[in-house]
Amino acid sequence: MNRLGHQAAAQATWLGVCSYEQLIGRWDLGWQHVLAGCIVASSMCADDWSPDVDQGGWMAKFIPGGHRGITHMPELVAAALFALSLVMPPDLDWFLMAAAAAWGSHLAADFLCGGVPWAAATLGGNKKRIGFGVKTGGPIEKAITTFLTVISFPLAYIALGGPMPFALVVS
Ligand SMILES: [Zn+2]
Repeated sequence: MNRLGHQAAAQATWLGVCSYEQLIGRWDLGWQHVLAGCIVASSMCADDWSPDVDQGGWMAKFIPGGHRGITHMPELVAAALFALSLVMPPDLDWFLMAAAAAWGSHLAADFLCGGVPWAAATLGGNKKRIGFGVKTGGPIEKAITTFLTVISFPLAYIALGGPMPFALVVS
C-alpha cells in the first residue's frame, strides 16, 4: 500500500482504539493522549519508523532481505512491540498502543495489497508473500484509502468524547 493508504489506515486504527476505549473500555484517555497518539501513529505508519524502513533511506542498507522482508513479518513486529512494552514505563501505554496501531495497520494494509512474509512460513522455505494481492496503488486501494479517511472523522469525534445521541456506555 502507498503512503497515503498507510496514513489513513493508521489514523483510523488509532482513532478506532480510542473510540472503543471512550465508549466501552476502561482506559482513561484524555484528548492529549488521543492527539499525541495520532502524531505517533502518523509518524510510525510509513517511511523510516515503519516496516517500510527496508525500502529506502540509510537504515535500509543494514536490513537483509530487501523490501517486505523481515520488517514485514508479523511475528517479528509483534515481538518488537512486546520488547518495547517491557522497557516502557506504564505512563507511556498510549505511545505503545499508537505504535502498535501504526505497525499493525501497516502489516494489515500490506497483507491486503501485495502480501507480507510470515516468519514461520519463511523459515519453512516459503518465499512467497501471503495476502490478498490487491494491486498496490490500484482502484481498490484508492477506495479503501477514501473509506478509511472518511470514517476517521466520526471516529475522531467519538475518540475526543463528543456527546453521543444515544447511550452506549457500559458501566
Ligand atoms: Zn510496507
